[in-house]
Amino acid sequence: MLNFFDTIPIPTIVVNNENKIVFINQIGLQFLELPNQDIVLKPVIYLFPEIELGKLKNKEYFTTSYKNSIRVNNFINIQFDSSTIQNIEYKLFYLKEFSSKDSQYFSINNTDSIELQNKLLINQNKELEQFTHIISHDLQEPLISLIGYSKLLEEEYQDKFDEEGKMFVQFINKSAIRMQNLISGLAQLSRINKREAISLTDISILIKEVKDDLSHKINKYNAIITYENLPSINCYPTYIRLLFQNLISNSIKFSKKRIQPKIQISCFEREIDWLFQIKDNGIGIDSRHFDTIYIPFKRLHNRNEYSGTGIGLAVCKKIAEKHQGDIWVESQPKQGSKFCFSVKRTIF
Ligand code: ADP
Repeated sequence: MLNFFDTIPIPTIVVNNENKIVFINQIGLQFLELPNQDIVLKPVIYLFPEIELGKLKNKEYFTTSYKNSIRVNNFINIQFDSSTIQNIEYKLFYLKEFSSKDSQYFSINNTDSIELQNKLLINQNKELEQFTHIISHDLQEPLISLIGYSKLLEEEYQDKFDEEGKMFVQFINKSAIRMQNLISGLAQLSRINKREAISLTDISILIKEVKDDLSHKINKYNAIITYENLPSINCYPTYIRLLFQNLISNSIKFSKKRIQPKIQISCFEREIDWLFQIKDNGIGIDSRHFDTIYIPFKRLHNRNEYSGTGIGLAVCKKIAEKHQGDIWVESQPKQGSKFCFSVKRTIF
């Protein structure tokens, strides 16, 4: 009977007296980008977490957030109604896109909605923090056991394995270590969301500290790092330090074989931001990769050729964006690379 709603050209959700979704029409599925009817029999607040069902009046038109596996916490306009079908009372939700016009109204005139928006942001942050916690702690633990026990197998049971068996154990160990690196990369990426204090930071001092941290690598490659007249800027110092560390470390790692890495760091004061440049004489990058290198885990080289997880530049991009700036590269293969990033002079 409820199939009748498939014939109406409005995305519609039908909810029973237990506030569970009993039907969503095809156009509704498409509208909410739901892959199938799996949502049926789930409570309606699963889709609309902020909805206050008890307060809804027939024909009422309201805005609320909705959540699905693809789009998390977006806004949607709904017209509510109720109807009795074969003696059973149903709640009907007619859905409508939340337009930019609504958004203007929403953000300027509707204080309730601003509160709602804030609540959603707080929830999103909490979810993100939980996620970070899960990946950085809970997933690490089984991996540590996996690495430990595979190492034990390799060392203590040497005589029991033939050559092939030993090789398999080594594969397990290497893969687990790689997974551990990937997970800590992901954790690093999501930690950039954490609130940090903004402070006036002397970039020359910060670079000295980065050089100290990288001294082992700098000495190994005999790299030369030069800089002068670097300013003091308002920034999130821990993040900016990580950004420089990643870019300098990459410039050393992607140096040409048997050529001494030379890295020059400079800064230019512009009208609204600071422009930093890190120029190297390394292997360079083909222009077709200029945009993709910032994608998490995207790498241009084989792991055996150059070590790494492919998370470094994704972290750099997120940090530049956190400073309301941008990051880009100018380069040609074999001609070195110049990574540039900007930091807004007044960040909030
Ligand atoms: P990783 O260093 O772990 O590979 P990144 O995200 O830091 O990951 O870098 C992504 C890719 O961008 C690298 O794999 C490399 O191909 C390229 N790249 C980054 N920095 C440089 C550089 N200074 N010179 C040449 N290629 C670079």
